[in-house]
Amino acid sequence: MMGIYRALDFLEEVGAIHRIQLLGSFVVCRQWGRDHTPIMLICTACENVEEFVSDATIATLDDDVRAVRFQRRRATIELRGLCAACH
Ligand SMILES: [Zn+2]
Ligand SMILES: [Zn+2]
Repeated sequence: MMGIYRALDFLEEVGAIHRIQLLGSFVVCRQWGRDHTPIMLICTACENVEEFVSDATIATLDDDVRAVRFQRRRATIELRGLCAACH
């Protein structure tokens, strides 16, 4: 079992997968090879997860956290709501 968790940690570290804390699961990155901070759109009805990228939002966030002298390394933003099929 330990081997599986190490493999998942490795894949997350290199950005091939993203961990979804809310669901305790992982999704395969759709933007593989591109430097990005994923925003996960999580449907609370069907548990569908869409990876969403908003570089402008992340740039603003980074400016704000730098102002409090925090050095961000990684982030996954999780938004809960209803997907297009569920509303
Ligand atoms: Zn991604
Ligand atoms: Zn849904």
